[in-house]
Amino acid sequence: MYNTELIYQSFGEKKNNMDLVFANSVCSLCGKKIEYGVLRKYFFSSNFTNHDELKSKSDFLCKECAFCLGNRDLRVNNFICASENKIYLFKKNDIEKYIFDLEKKIKPPFIFAVTKSFKKHMTFKTKINFSLNKFNIFFENHNVLFCKAEHIYIYSILKNLYNSFSKDELNNLDSCSFLNIEKFGFKLFLEYRKELKQFEKTKIYNFLVYILNSEEKLEKIKNKIEINKNKNK
Ligand SMILES: [Zn+2]
Repeated sequence: MYNTELIYQSFGEKKNNMDLVFANSVCSLCGKKIEYGVLRKYFFSSNFTNHDELKSKSDFLCKECAFCLGNRDLRVNNFICASENKIYLFKKNDIEKYIFDLEKKIKPPFIFAVTKSFKKHMTFKTKINFSLNKFNIFFENHNVLFCKAEHIYIYSILKNLYNSFSKDELNNLDSCSFLNIEKFGFKLFLEYRKELKQFEKTKIYNFLVYILNSEEKLEKIKNKIEINKNKNK
């Protein structure tokens, strides 16, 4: 099965019917042989910049690839696609809810994609996953391999650090301010650094920093300010 076919299926009844024309060609995007398809020119707007990634110079697209290219939701959201009618579109601060509890929502095969720019075509570059414990997430430009057992622990450390440090600091732990380390506690900071050492600066590490929930952090800060206000009354 092709990635765009799985995505197409996951939309179930929510798809519009497409007018297909006789093509007897291959799909320009996925390279699959097609009898009927749609003309490529209708789907390649000026913001399509992936011409070097096309599988063929054919003038046609299969209906699944055409659907994926034409669907705005798949560009401006993070998404998980699984079987029929199992499509989840969600925002950045909700990624962690999905990633660690995936088995409650879907069964493999599935596709997981996360956008940073909210404008790029990701669908045809994704990988189909067959395991809920170890899977590829397409993250803006490339696939990162997520291993639940290992990365759930790393994420818990990052979450703790995020209470005291910025995402920029987490992406480069050498840049953490002395004042912040002092506030956080030297001993624990050094322990965490040791645990993170082999992950630092890897793609999956940057991904895990990216998905840390900024809304939740803001909420915690607000609550702290509120508590301090009440104390000083
Ligand atoms: Zn195709």
